[in-house]
Amino acid sequence: MTTSTPPPHLDFRAFVDALRSDNDLADINAEVDPNLEVAAVTRRAYELQSKAPPGAHDGLFRILGASGGLSSDPQFPYRRLVRHVGLSPNASLGDFIDKMLSAKGKPGIPPVHVETGPCKENKLFGNDIDLTKLPAPLLNKADGGNYIQTMGINIVQHPTKAWVNWSIARAMVLDKTRMVGLIMKPQHIARIYAQWIESGKDMPFAIALGAPPIAVMASSMPLPEGVTESEYVGALCGEPLELVKCETNDLYVPARSEIVIEGTVSITERAKEGPFGEMHGYSFLDEELMEPIYNVAAITYRSGNAILPISVPGRATGPDETHTLIGTLASAEIRQLLQENGLPVLNVFTPYETQVIWAAVQVDRKKLWVLETNAEEFCRKIGQLVFRRKCGMQIHRLLIVGDDIDPFNFKDVIWSYASRCRPGMDEYHFEDVAAYPLVPYMSHGPGTKLTGGKVVANCLLPHEYKQEQMWVTCDFENGYPEEIKEKVLRRWSDFGL
Ligand code: MN
Repeated sequence: MTTSTPPPHLDFRAFVDALRSDNDLADINAEVDPNLEVAAVTRRAYELQSKAPPGAHDGLFRILGASGGLSSDPQFPYRRLVRHVGLSPNASLGDFIDKMLSAKGKPGIPPVHVETGPCKENKLFGNDIDLTKLPAPLLNKADGGNYIQTMGINIVQHPTKAWVNWSIARAMVLDKTRMVGLIMKPQHIARIYAQWIESGKDMPFAIALGAPPIAVMASSMPLPEGVTESEYVGALCGEPLELVKCETNDLYVPARSEIVIEGTVSITERAKEGPFGEMHGYSFLDEELMEPIYNVAAITYRSGNAILPISVPGRATGPDETHTLIGTLASAEIRQLLQENGLPVLNVFTPYETQVIWAAVQVDRKKLWVLETNAEEFCRKIGQLVFRRKCGMQIHRLLIVGDDIDPFNFKDVIWSYASRCRPGMDEYHFEDVAAYPLVPYMSHGPGTKLTGGKVVANCLLPHEYKQEQMWVTCDFENGYPEEIKEKVLRRWSDFGL
């Protein structure tokens, strides 16, 4: 292993240092209670777009909240996000999506296995393991347990194939040596878990907390089945990621992780999991999930107060990682899917204001004319592609917008939806596709819970499918000749404005 300090996207502690040097980190040395207080500080930091708050510890672990929230610098709100992937702090969301897609079509670069690494500096086994003593935070007053795993990478391997899947799936502390976590279809972790049930053996797992930030990003991205995320990270970085073997099973974890929890997920034992305040801003009091039990066999961690990263999902008035990571990365994957199917799509984005339930699909209208299509044919095609793939799983409303609309600007998106999409006639419904069960109107609304409730909203007027737009937009930018705009800007301060 190299001894020089790795860049922030490859080392969580270097990432924390980078936030500190960006003046985007608040070091809290006062005692903060993991029982709701840590989460309340984090939640408020998202909402006020304050500095990221590392919280108090028990002499063993520290906590970092809001690692993927919006930055405290209004000039560069996405700085924390783009820092995850090694981009310059002023990179846009579009640049971030381009970066995450930059390894598409490139061969994966398999990780290298190293002998040891920072995550092996301390090891706990057997009776020394007591999850109840760790500062696993209670995140919301309605939550059913203390969630130790909200930002770590769940690592599992298919029992027969070489596919190793990395994802992020929540888990709470059950007792000293057991956790219980959501393993939800159609996520890859659930597909692999189903294979282990068939094999009759418990599923080995590792959870890497405080993993290299770019690996966390790849784990949040809905990459297609069979893609090994660690190889995708290698291709993104142009160099292999360093992994080290687990103590108690054959899985490999990022050597530069802060904390690693390892063991097996039972294929027979379940326990009550949740309620949990989820990404749409609700913690439902009647949530009664029975989920698989994680038996913990070892915990290893970095010296110098290892850092436990946490996410506190909620209303996107303060976007958190369930929006900035999950939504933005689904956008990337949807754009890739539509473009590789030859559709004239420029960009895709899930506005945070919609809790990332909606995705705006920006269409190059000049290229659209060449297709000689119409709203119905075009919207149905896009719905069939997106709603039947993993990347479209959590999206319930696709808005097809023109290239005069910036999909990253919600004011643009909502203006086009409100004014160009005729209720009824411009809406193409999909009732036979897999729903996202966490959306409140699916879990607690009328009708089927697991299928349907999806729509493509056409926000293009019919003539835009074949010719230049037949309107002038009535705003300062578009409604006046250049010389008038220049004159007004020149005289603006003279007017006392
Ligand atoms: Mn996967």
